[in-house]
Order: sequence, then C-alpha cells, then structure tokens
Amino acid sequence: MLFKCAPGNTAKHLVQYRMDTKAPLSLLDWYKKNGRHELPWRNTQDAYHIYLSEVMLQQTQVKTVLERFYFPFLKRFPSLKALGEAPLDDVLKMWEGLGYYTRAKNLHKTATLISELPSNIDTLMTLPGIGKNTAHAIAAFAFHQSVPVMEANVKRILCRIFALQNPSPKELWDKAYELLDTAHPFEYNQAMMDIGSGICLPKNPKCLLCPLSTICTGKDAPERYPQKQKKTVPTREQFIMVYRYNDKLSLTQRKGKFLHGLWGFESVDDPLCAAEYLGEVTHAYTHFKLICKVYVYDEPSKEQMHYFSLSDIRNLAISKVDEKILTLL
Ligand code: SF4
Repeated sequence: MLFKCAPGNTAKHLVQYRMDTKAPLSLLDWYKKNGRHELPWRNTQDAYHIYLSEVMLQQTQVKTVLERFYFPFLKRFPSLKALGEAPLDDVLKMWEGLGYYTRAKNLHKTATLISELPSNIDTLMTLPGIGKNTAHAIAAFAFHQSVPVMEANVKRILCRIFALQNPSPKELWDKAYELLDTAHPFEYNQAMMDIGSGICLPKNPKCLLCPLSTICTGKDAPERYPQKQKKTVPTREQFIMVYRYNDKLSLTQRKGKFLHGLWGFESVDDPLCAAEYLGEVTHAYTHFKLICKVYVYDEPSKEQMHYFSLSDIRNLAISKVDEKILTLL
C-alpha cells in the first residue's frame, strides 16, 4: 500500500508511514530491528548513569567508553552523591586515558553542587559543563521529554536531509524540532544517533539502507552536506625537563587551566645545558598540536619538586602526553 504525504506534512509524518513492503522501513521499525538496544545507558532510568554516558561520549567513541571507562567509573562512583564526596584526584585518576579532563572536573563540580539531576533543560544548563546539547540529551533520555538531541552525527543527518551546507545553530535546532517524532521521542532520538554512527557516515553514507532516504533531499550528493570547514591547527612546542634521582622521576601537579589537577612532567623555558636530550613526543589536541622536547638530568632539582617511582606514577592521574613522555623515559 502506498501512502502519499499531504503538502505541508513534515518529515516526521513521512517516516512514520510504511510506504509499501519494498520501501524503506519507517524510523521506528528500523530502530526496533537495528537499534543498539543493548547499550547500558539505554537500559537504565538512572539519570546520573545517563548523564555520565553523555559526558563520556562527548569526545570519545562508544566502543572505548563501553569497554574501558563507563563500568569502572560507575563501580567507583555509583551515585552523584558518591562522586561529589570523592576527591577530585580520584575522579581524574578514573578518567585517565579518556582525555578532555575538563569534562571530569565539571562532572565532579556538578556532583558537589547537587545529588539529584533536575529535569528542566534551562536548570540543567546552569550546571558546570552542561550545554544545550547535553541538557537536551539528559532531558530526552533520562526524563523522556519530547525534545530532540543534537550530537555531531545528528547534525550531519539534519544537514543532509535538509540539504544545508552551513546552517546556523538556530537553523539546526529549528529543523531538529521540526523533524522530531513527538509521539516517540526516545526511540526517534536513539534511532537518529544509530543512523548517524552506522549509516549516514561522513564518507560513503549507506543511503540504500537508510530509513530516512524517502525524505532526504541531500542524498544525491550527501558529502556536500555539511560543507567541510578547513581547519588549520597551530603547533606549540615545549621543553620538558625531568630530574631523575634515586630511581625516581620529578613531577608537578598542574595549576593552570590546561590539564589542571593532573600530575605531569614540568615544562620549562630553557632546559639545563647539562641535561641529556631524549627525543620528542607529539600529541594532537582539538585546537593545537603539541610537540614536547624531552630532557633528563640525573640529579635532584634545586627547586622544590615531587619525586615518584614508576609504580607511584601509575597511581597518579597523568595526561596522555605525560604517558608518552614516561614511555620515552
Ligand atoms: S539518505 Fe543518505 S544522506 Fe540522507 S540521511 Fe540517509 S544516509 Fe544520510
């Protein structure tokens, strides 16, 4: 049976109709058959668990979060209250390897302020590190509100469905609300995220398998949407000075905004002339590439420093770049 869409109907009406047996599945049917239902944060009502997953997934792939971080973190901090009562150092240690430590610090700060998450989007957005996207995700997934989510994959789908090359945030949110299936917001949002991660890929999207193909106006040239922004990433260079004394290495706890609270090897303006040059390590951050030239000196420093054995260092929260330096040492 073939249903036609009346003029003025929005995409959500279209995708809910089954066109005929050969036509693509409706979004809901597609989600029922193909959705990643087993993801633990889709099988809980605990707002803290959902909030944690949203924060971890902001910059990290599902596989990594699932295999290495989500469960150990929840085991160590089973509730928002437990998280708020823990020292920041312990939280950073559990976050070690996930990167983007501001996420962990904001999570901890939020936990020190409240023991239960609010459901209101505007109130959520007053909490540290919770922006519009995360607030919508928490409202949609933890409190089953009829609001769209807007993560990177969903943005790409919206751009393609509406053939938008360079939309403003407002335009994207308007389209997201327009497309939302208000009767089934939870399934709709999860389906959009699954299509974004498995079908509407940045390169070579699988339009033939896509349940949204009937409404997608950009599918003839999907890779034109959104327009790629050329990024030029600056390079920063640092000299790292490590003192080695009694089989221990010197580290300091970072005070500035960057990697605040983590332990690391000290960067200096000029390394000691007598120090041995070991080589360099590089690390790519979102906004810049860091090159660290590493020097070691086999005497204690005159400055007040902290010295740690290798096994002690394993108990400290250190950044990825410091791990690389440690490997070099
Ligand atoms: S039809 Fe193709 S371009 Fe359009 S949303 Fe689906 S996968 Fe993406």
